Amino acid sequence: MNLLSDRWIPVSDGASMTQISVEELLCSDRCYSICHPRDDMELAALQLLVCLTQAVLAPENDEELRGRLETPLDPVEYREAAAIKMDWFDLEHEKTPFMQDPRVLEYMTSKGKDLAKEKTGIAKLLPGLPEGKGSGCLFNGAGDIRCMCPSCAAMALFNQATEAPSFGGGFKDPLRKAGPVTALIYDENLRLMVWKNALPCDFVEGRLPSVDEKNDVPNWILQMGEGDVVRTEEIGLLRGLFWQPASLFLEWSDGEGTCDCCGLRMSRSTLSFWKRKFKYDLDGVMWPHPHGARLMDKGKWNGVTFRGVAPLWTRFSEFLRWQDGHQPELVLEHYKNFVSHERLNLSVGGYTNRQASILERHHQVISLGSGWPEHIEDIDGRVELAVGYEKELSGKSFGLGKRVSGDGGGLKERARKMFFQKTESLMHEALQYTEWNREKAFRLELADRLKVLCSKILEEVARPYMDQPHGLLAYVTAKKNLEAAMDRLHKSIE
Ligand SMILES: [Zn+2]
Repeated sequence: MNLLSDRWIPVSDGASMTQISVEELLCSDRCYSICHPRDDMELAALQLLVCLTQAVLAPENDEELRGRLETPLDPVEYREAAAIKMDWFDLEHEKTPFMQDPRVLEYMTSKGKDLAKEKTGIAKLLPGLPEGKGSGCLFNGAGDIRCMCPSCAAMALFNQATEAPSFGGGFKDPLRKAGPVTALIYDENLRLMVWKNALPCDFVEGRLPSVDEKNDVPNWILQMGEGDVVRTEEIGLLRGLFWQPASLFLEWSDGEGTCDCCGLRMSRSTLSFWKRKFKYDLDGVMWPHPHGARLMDKGKWNGVTFRGVAPLWTRFSEFLRWQDGHQPELVLEHYKNFVSHERLNLSVGGYTNRQASILERHHQVISLGSGWPEHIEDIDGRVELAVGYEKELSGKSFGLGKRVSGDGGGLKERARKMFFQKTESLMHEALQYTEWNREKAFRLELADRLKVLCSKILEEVARPYMDQPHGLLAYVTAKKNLEAAMDRLHKSIE
């Protein structure tokens, strides 16, 4: 299967799920949306499509990009552009199979290993499948995924290389480390969404390492050697977008069947792959991936990654604020000036991991009201206000727990979880509120609603202890402290 010419994009046209080709997507004005049973594969398909379009049809400048958004591509123009990069994106290419390394087989043979015994089941390419104690069971049960169609295999390869933690000790993480937060501009129309995330060449210049064309190629075409030291300032846009940190090779077989991952019919499938530990080192600052924000920590740039239980809205400033030590992703930086006042919908996703285990998967749309580029500070102020209430509630719940049982951690975590559950829709509304001239009044209203919620949550976590005098006393003390703290927060915005 070739990603540039075959049908692999899992879509819904409103009625049923099917697979279409990149040409069918970009050269028609039909409105498709991505559709796959696993939402992490949906995000992988979107990101892969954006990267393919960037590789084959990067617009020269904003004017050309506007033309692409307005009018579907001419099929002849598409085919001419795609022909040049056909060899990069063939899943079973004789010499350079997509995101794979045929050297794995030579390596196994040279070590005298039995290839049949060294295979890994294809399920390992999908993050979050149950493998043993502590591993997440997010989508499928053990043994559910035994075979995969070429489309799912391509998305899984790309997702594993870009988003997931490595296969374990001795294997390398993605370029942005494990569990990065990926954010793409969202549009209901898939064709428009792909273009809205494309970066014009004149924008890329100076923002990403300048590498000549013959070296800005994926690392399964221009391979790294074992033990190489790779300077990140020598990784060009395309090499970075398709960075494959692992050395692996898929095994294919013929035969009619149903894909265990997407449920569609297939005539060719993969059941297993070979992988080997392959060492290399990255040297230099963290590569500025266009789909993820970076934060400065102790003088070093790091990618923004998922961590803990706090929902995405609490991390607003980390991926949307332009200030010292914060660098939002390049796609957003471009889009901000490309259509400055429109409402912004961002499709954000990734995994929370603990080493090689996946604890949670995330994929949601975050929306900001029109006028957001000029009002980032206002939106951030709303988030900071809510985070302030959460901190006070957590702190007082900790104190309450300490007094009633000697351990505050449990009650604090319960209160935090409840706070995040109960404020999710309230805070998404707050991100989208656009009456910028009544910001103060809006914040006061928000504070009042948060106060009611926090008081209720404190009462709820205290309830099991209230039938004992010392429990009741502890609650009354915590309530008094929380109210005083919330009054201070309220005063700070009056
Ligand atoms: Zn499939």
